[in-house]
Amino acid sequence: MGLFTDKKGLIFGVANKNSIAWGIAQALHEEGATLGFSYAGEILKKRVDPLAASLNSPFVEECDVTDDGAIDAVFAKAQEQFGTIDFLVHSIAFAPREELTGRFVDTTRAGFRTALDISCYSLVALAKRARTLMPDGGSILTMTYFGAEKVTPNYNVMGVAKAALEATVRYLAWDLGKDNIRVNAISAGPIKTLAASGVGSFRKSLSYVGEVAPLGNVDQANVGDAGRFLLSNWSGGITGEVLHVDGGYNIMGAPDPEMME
Ligand code: NAP
Repeated sequence: MGLFTDKKGLIFGVANKNSIAWGIAQALHEEGATLGFSYAGEILKKRVDPLAASLNSPFVEECDVTDDGAIDAVFAKAQEQFGTIDFLVHSIAFAPREELTGRFVDTTRAGFRTALDISCYSLVALAKRARTLMPDGGSILTMTYFGAEKVTPNYNVMGVAKAALEATVRYLAWDLGKDNIRVNAISAGPIKTLAASGVGSFRKSLSYVGEVAPLGNVDQANVGDAGRFLLSNWSGGITGEVLHVDGGYNIMGAPDPEMME
């Protein structure tokens, strides 16, 4: 018996085998979960289809989270397929590449809207529909980054979007607590993925964090393990929380002086 035997859920945000959502999917599959996948665009279908098939997933549907009709359609199909669900993973973020480098003061209105819409509002939109499929409660998990808490050069508008996302986690946790639905976030350390490669100087950040963090860099499997916990009954008393899975980077005030010599 796995932790997720007889449990079903939806995972939004697998783009390829490097995606953080894929690390979470593998961990849940190991625990016996039945998984449904949703990906952003037609181009990803050829990548996501075989990944989903490798975990015996009966459900792979396209959904652009900027489109309410597309979100309604994917949840209608999920209801047909699964009836009810126990968990949902939101592992989605986007900002135009030109917003993820240079001066924050140059952030455009359009870039700001896009980043907040796709990276933050989408959690509200998915949670609203997930609630109707969770009559006995459930667990919702999203992905955030330290740039929400402290200035991280080049992360720019995405840091603002993640700050809003973390506040959204708390408001949803309060509101959906009545429905016995928990809402939490994992704040992952930098991991090489498609989305990460869009952030200016990502490689340098990755190697810096690897040096400074007490445990060095983390990987998709570390995040998957934390996802196992936050999506399961073992975290039954936890909601509105942001759990750092960052090798301890966030506890550091300054790097070890020996590193600076
Ligand atoms: P990823 O593999 O590129 O995943 C990002 C996902 O967001 C992709 O599947 C992408 O699909 C999807 N997405 C973008 N726009 C969308 C839209 N309009 N509708 C539906 N889906 C859309 O990168 P990742 O690093 O695993 O990112 C997953 C989450 O982890 C993000 O929230 C990210 O901010 C967060 N995170 C990442 C790191 C890191 O260092 N990698 C650290 C902390 C937090 P397309 O490829 O089709 O756009």
